[in-house]
Amino acid sequence: MPKPLLDRRIGFFKKNLETMDSEKRFEYLNRRLRGIAQYAYKHSLAIKNKMDTAGVKPSDIQTVKDLEKVPITQKTDLMELQKKTPPLGGFEGVPLHALRRIYISPGPLYEPGETEYDELGWAQGMFAAGFRPGDIAINTFSYHMVPFAMQMVDNSLFEIGCITIPTGVGNTEQQVNILKNLKVKAFCGTPSFLLNIAEKAEEMGLDLRKDLILRVGFVAAEMLSESLRSELEERFGMIIRQGYGTADIRCLGYECMERNGMHIPDDKIVEIVDPQTGKQLDPGKTGEIVATTFNKFYPLIRFGTGDLSILTETRCPCGRTSPRLLKILGRVDQATKVRGLFVHPGQVDEVASRYPQIAKYQVVVRREKHKDEMIFRIELKEEVAQIEKLKEKIEQSIRDMVKIRGDVRFVPKGTIPEEARKIEDQRTWE
Ligand SMILES: [Zn+2]
Repeated sequence: MPKPLLDRRIGFFKKNLETMDSEKRFEYLNRRLRGIAQYAYKHSLAIKNKMDTAGVKPSDIQTVKDLEKVPITQKTDLMELQKKTPPLGGFEGVPLHALRRIYISPGPLYEPGETEYDELGWAQGMFAAGFRPGDIAINTFSYHMVPFAMQMVDNSLFEIGCITIPTGVGNTEQQVNILKNLKVKAFCGTPSFLLNIAEKAEEMGLDLRKDLILRVGFVAAEMLSESLRSELEERFGMIIRQGYGTADIRCLGYECMERNGMHIPDDKIVEIVDPQTGKQLDPGKTGEIVATTFNKFYPLIRFGTGDLSILTETRCPCGRTSPRLLKILGRVDQATKVRGLFVHPGQVDEVASRYPQIAKYQVVVRREKHKDEMIFRIELKEEVAQIEKLKEKIEQSIRDMVKIRGDVRFVPKGTIPEEARKIEDQRTWE
């Protein structure tokens, strides 16, 4: 029988940070922000240039709100600057010889591997997922070139006190044998690779709950659907939680036991901004995730992730007081602004996925009498008895999920072309 998972569901990795009240958190983040703004201006040429160009002095940055004065650096900007000044574009906050490694992500984008690793987020996330000292863990993320497995996951497992087996990607059969023979309790990797492991282990005649003793899993780098999560949790008898971050700025969110969004780690500042103006948006509004790190080796200030999300500051029952990212909604460049709010293809999919009656769908955005109009065109699989009721229900789901009103129009089969864009913007602006 699996051991009870209860003790893995409680506790904090850094209790004093994770549970501070909002006023204290506000002060704490502002203090660290002032520190890193001063430091980065002095030690990172790229940050100095960016602030000088915008006419901002480090002393102008006193609170998180003041970050609005600093231009956002996008991935493409970083790539350009790295091309001009290799390897790190002048963003490094230490002399190059103080680095231990240079990682390479697709782009190419280069990331530093520092000698003194003091990233907090991923370790907070793994602890919140139930990882505990003494656990044997396999790290199935890729160890070469990219920074995630070695720099972030491996170091964080060490911080918690886990014993890491650096298996990397692939070799599924061998990984199953390792899980079994070394009594591995913790898994780090993508959800789809964990599913591969489940399938391979069963193919090898193993019982996932009896022959393996996986208790916890920390997954990232891929969308985790709730159906896949519950399937994997059920099959292995384990807890699975996910984290979110980027190669450059690292962990920006992690789930706790409550599974109600991703807590922002205490060593980052996350803003949700309007990508067009760079201004901060209130909790509950969809915008781009822009992050600032306190990492002196690579002090990125106001780095745009290109990902869309919504922030919430409501209290989480787990006791952690940090705000949470509700969900990663998709990429900014695929989103369309309707009545001042972003609508992303992922949100459209989510509405549609709730109604098995829907065969095909497309959102059309138009402009009528100087007002945006959002029409949800739907082809049904077959005729539905109470069509008005269904229309009302879907329209309610649109309001719930997209946060703006949309009209449902049922159209005959074959109306929506095969290659149609999910969101078709038909607005003209003359
Ligand atoms: Zn929580």
